[in-house]
Amino acid sequence: MTVSRPSPNPVPSHIVAQSLRKAACYGKAERIAPGLVRVLAENAKDYTGPGTNTYLLGEDRLWIIDPGPAMDCHVAAVLDAINGRPVDGICVTHTHMDHSPAAVALQAATGAATYGFGGLPPAAVAVTEEDVDADFRPDVRLGDGERIGSGRWTVEALHTPGHFPNHLCFHLVERGLLFSGDHVMGWSTTAVVPPLGHLGAYMDSLDKLAAVSARLMAPSHGPLVDRPAERIAEIRAHRMARHDQILDCAGRGIVAVADIVAAIYPDLPDRLVQAAQGQVRAHLDWAAETGDDAPLPLVPTRPAGAHP
Ligand SMILES: [Zn+2]
Repeated sequence: MTVSRPSPNPVPSHIVAQSLRKAACYGKAERIAPGLVRVLAENAKDYTGPGTNTYLLGEDRLWIIDPGPAMDCHVAAVLDAINGRPVDGICVTHTHMDHSPAAVALQAATGAATYGFGGLPPAAVAVTEEDVDADFRPDVRLGDGERIGSGRWTVEALHTPGHFPNHLCFHLVERGLLFSGDHVMGWSTTAVVPPLGHLGAYMDSLDKLAAVSARLMAPSHGPLVDRPAERIAEIRAHRMARHDQILDCAGRGIVAVADIVAAIYPDLPDRLVQAAQGQVRAHLDWAAETGDDAPLPLVPTRPAGAHP
């Protein structure tokens, strides 16, 4: 791989999150497009921005995209927004704790079936320290390219591993609207942390989303993204710049994960260091897999930290 000059560090995500939080609207249904309502969960953290977006799709009959965290106030707000209308399905992008757990209460209240790629195997739960929902099992498993919907609209499931193995994006075909989950967001880049995160898979999934040519993207955190192709290209370029920075570190004899983090994330708050180390491990693993690590000594990897 060619070593390019490192790009400047982007604005730290926690600073962006603080500004987004100020504008957040919790507990109320926001109509953000025809037939599309967002209910924002009050679970703002470093890695969730202002909180999780739960989307209600439809008018007379609804689908829920990403139930969100198991918070009573959030479930109550979603049910309030549903306002007694029938719910045909609950789609889950992936089983991080800020996305799937409210499916239990929403299913109990609406009777709707749950849809997702699949639950997390026990072996995967055993090797991660991330906040995962080990209990979620969808009623209906959706594979890559499978379609659901009514006669008026179609949603295509896109399997997009990388951030998380069972991550799905949902493409509302007739409107070119892509529910991008955590895979592509406008407010921040996405954490890819081994062993459940995988950078090669993440980049392949970016290509899959680019091929959809969506007109609008609705991520699970942060605002709508109105130029999806540009955002996907921007994130790809950012990841490659980071990759070059990390390989450049190796070329300068900086090989320990902690030292690489200190070199490329110079003003990182302590609480974000563990996640940054996970991100660096993802790059080192990817370099090893693709043969880009020729100048690197073997750097041991270990399980990831908290969910970013
Ligand atoms: Zn996630």
